Amino acid sequence: MSQLILKPGRERSALRRHPWIFDGAVDRLAGRARSGDTVEVASADGRVLGRAAWSPDSRIRARVWSFDPAETIDDAFFKRRIAQALSRRTDLPGLATQQGLRLLHAESDGLPGVICDCYGDTLVLALSSAGAEKWRDAIVGALIKATGCARIYERSDADLRTLEGLPVRCGWLHGEEGSAFPVIEESGVRMAVDIVAGHKTGFYLDQRENRLACRQLAQGRRVLNCFCYTGGFSLQALAGGAASVLSVDSSGPALISAANNLALNPQLDAQRAEWREADVFAELRVLAAAGERFDLIVLDPPKFAPSPAHAERAARAYKDINLYGFRLLAPGGILMTYSCSGGIGIELFQKIVAGAAQDAKVEARIVQRLSAAADHPVLLDFPEGEYLKGLVCQIG
Ligand code: SAH
Repeated sequence: MSQLILKPGRERSALRRHPWIFDGAVDRLAGRARSGDTVEVASADGRVLGRAAWSPDSRIRARVWSFDPAETIDDAFFKRRIAQALSRRTDLPGLATQQGLRLLHAESDGLPGVICDCYGDTLVLALSSAGAEKWRDAIVGALIKATGCARIYERSDADLRTLEGLPVRCGWLHGEEGSAFPVIEESGVRMAVDIVAGHKTGFYLDQRENRLACRQLAQGRRVLNCFCYTGGFSLQALAGGAASVLSVDSSGPALISAANNLALNPQLDAQRAEWREADVFAELRVLAAAGERFDLIVLDPPKFAPSPAHAERAARAYKDINLYGFRLLAPGGILMTYSCSGGIGIELFQKIVAGAAQDAKVEARIVQRLSAAADHPVLLDFPEGEYLKGLVCQIG
């Protein structure tokens, strides 16, 4: 096996079990390796630190599979890691019964570059690193054995793949070609998931519990759901007894999916729902100018800051929507505000929201802090895995 030798002193991160080895830390590759091959990671003084996948085209030059220098990376390794990830989920209350569930959460499940989401009997697999790409067959085989799923669809189309020099790969990997829109039930609400063309693997599973939190706050309230996508928060708000739900998104197709999802739930009062195709930044101003008021506002925008380099511009965008969110609240109203930007930490996000409340001249209190659901764990050795944060703020 080839050896990736680190520069003197650059073994510290690997010793803390951080799975990324950046190009700047690499002294040289002793031997030959092709993209995705397993290499041994060694410090400058020859101490073997683990085994990693070689990514020659990426700034993250290697991703560590195992910090046990004796652990062989083979089919059995993927079987073990996948079995462990599944049993962690079975061991947590409330997860095992979910029809929509993240089974593999990449680095945080010890599988860098491997994401697998389950929608009923359909799994959607997204591979984004050279190492994951190389072990596709082993991963698929282990998933079939461990889950007994009927079919697996591949959605390896994340931007990350370009950075790894990998082409887009989408299509059925296992089983008879199934529906492109498997239907799942989430907290009693049916949702069709567009696994072929939807965002991520088709659905924002990470917001499951936050949508439930919205439902619990919705009773009798006039709700505004900004960036509604396929209506997840909107439908939960209706299920929670909202007086009305106005949902805004700039994507026509997303709004059609949202309306279709509502139609899948005849138990919900469709008369109380309105879908509006608009740019949220503009629509918030229109609503404010019209003197509209809401009792519960959800702001779940796309990732404004994928990395810290985008933080400043993103901060202005977060400030803007939160400022208008606070302005549009009726007395006693509640703002549920999220950021899924890895480049904006919770402290900064809270500062931005505080600034927005000040400018809107409202007194607001955080009554709940939210994050991704438990099937999106954050490995303590890998804080980069934490991206989603939410604040529930009550005014007055
Ligand atoms: N809350 C959703 C996920 C939101 S994803 C859920 O729980 O499923 C972000 C959404 O923001 C996408 O649907 C995208 O179309 C929309 N979007 C992005 N920029 C926008 C803008 N400027 N105005 C309105 N919608 C926008």
